[in-house]
Amino acid sequence: KQLLEAAALSRGKDLPPIQQARNVLALDGVTKQFGPHKRRSRPVLKEVSFTLRQGEILGILGQSGSGKSTLARAIVGLEVPDGGTITRTLAAEPGKHAAAGTKVQLVFQEPHDSFDPRMKLLTSLEAPLRQRPDLTAEERRQRILEVMNDVELDSGMLDRYPGQCSGGQLQRATIARALLLEPEVLICDEATSALDALTQRKVLDLLLRLHRDRRLSLIMISHDLDVIRYMSHRVAVLFQGALVEVAETRDFFFCQQHEHSRKLVSAVL
Ligand code: ADP
Ligand code: MG
Repeated sequence: KQLLEAAALSRGKDLPPIQQARNVLALDGVTKQFGPHKRRSRPVLKEVSFTLRQGEILGILGQSGSGKSTLARAIVGLEVPDGGTITRTLAAEPGKHAAAGTKVQLVFQEPHDSFDPRMKLLTSLEAPLRQRPDLTAEERRQRILEVMNDVELDSGMLDRYPGQCSGGQLQRATIARALLLEPEVLICDEATSALDALTQRKVLDLLLRLHRDRRLSLIMISHDLDVIRYMSHRVAVLFQGALVEVAETRDFFFCQQHEHSRKLVSAVL
């Protein structure tokens, strides 16, 4: 744990100043309820508001059932909130294809669920590029090879089926697929929870490298304090659908403001 902390602190020194960066994402009062009798059901998200700056890594911590995945799905547009607004303020760079919705990508927990078991990885990776009719077949092939290289996977893996890959390899392929559409924001929803400790560390380091090299903003969703501490500039705590605390990571682990945050931290220390 001390090693992780030391690594996170020394990494913090190289980070560009986030405070001055523009917002890439802003949530304002986002609420969500499920079910046919919404008035009677408990809200899954309650007035959630926060911003994410370019190049920032925000950790979202919360017990299972606290609404983390619903929040992630709402941010990428897979859930429609009942109230509030989600603003994606993404760079409109000239000459770049800035189709709305492709600039925020989501990586799920279970890599085997992210791929169709009947398709070779190549076929699964070609799918998102169908949204880019402006690219030639050769450009698409090149781009797939580039992202495979980015996530340190051998291009020979493209011929494999998901069942022939390890969890770590598949999670790298999931990240590669998300990168194909050149997102500015990547949301990792328990993305490394299903991996063993060493593989998890490697995937986290890969994400840190992508964050640095591509100026990728990240939302790291996890119930794992170590992952959040290792990765995040700021920590947000979700409790029964409400954000009860948002703080700089160092401050947060030093002293928690909300009672639930204290419980989360003291439960494992
Ligand atoms: P977490 O990711 O923090 O574990 P979730 O966002 O998956 O939490 O779920 C939060 C709550 O919302 C849970 O009580 C879950 O049962 C409920 N929920 C999530 N998705 C749906 C859905 N599609 N329909 C009904 N209830 C849902
Ligand atoms: Mg979840």
